Amino acid sequence: MSRTCVFFHAHPDDEALLTGGTMARLSAEGHRVVLVVATSGGRGLSATTDDLATARSRELRASAAVLGCARVEFLGYQDSGLTGDTGFARADVTEAADRLAALLHEERADLLTGYDPAGGYGHPDHVQVHRVASLAAELASTPRLWEATVDRDRLLPVLRAARLVRRFDLGPFERSYSASADITHRVDVRRYAHLKRRSMAAHATQTTGGTTTRTLTALLRLPPPVFRYALGTEWYVERARRR
Ligand SMILES: [Zn+2]
Repeated sequence: MSRTCVFFHAHPDDEALLTGGTMARLSAEGHRVVLVVATSGGRGLSATTDDLATARSRELRASAAVLGCARVEFLGYQDSGLTGDTGFARADVTEAADRLAALLHEERADLLTGYDPAGGYGHPDHVQVHRVASLAAELASTPRLWEATVDRDRLLPVLRAARLVRRFDLGPFERSYSASADITHRVDVRRYAHLKRRSMAAHATQTTGGTTTRTLTALLRLPPPVFRYALGTEWYVERARRR
């Protein structure tokens, strides 16, 4: 039976890294996949002074096409940046949730994805996605709410190894994302790793912007078998099951 799955994200490129494999797998299996982003990512990294939000919106559409999305919607909020003093992070939760709930109704969505309460690594817009998704799923009585996350207990050993090369503070990561024990769904996306890679590569401004090596760039440099192993699982915590 074909289901409708709505993936809600904060910024263009979040969909690729966190849920791209799941989206590609669901659409390949005949389900309707809808992508909704809260912001156009206007405060992301940029190598140019062109209108970054416009460029990132275009990149999101290209990524969504790779992942087989049937529909892409922007809620049109401003990217809050890491400070979170303006923009989506400070938007009215009820107003944003009402708009998302209207779309869930219209789509008769069977599943909504949001983020874990920590907002992953704590970006203010990601914490806001958690709040808005929770309320929207409730308002629309969406049968399933899954929170996209990372298995922290799998991430920490990798980061500890990376620290041997370059020192950095592990503290924030010990509290970010979700503990292994809390994860309810581990989605095997190894067969769709090539599509996940193409969807990540579609976000060109985020792979070339700034002066330091970006996470996306580093991941895209991994040889395909390593990429498939490292990014071949996506994790979710099921928060709500109604029906
Ligand atoms: Zn983001």
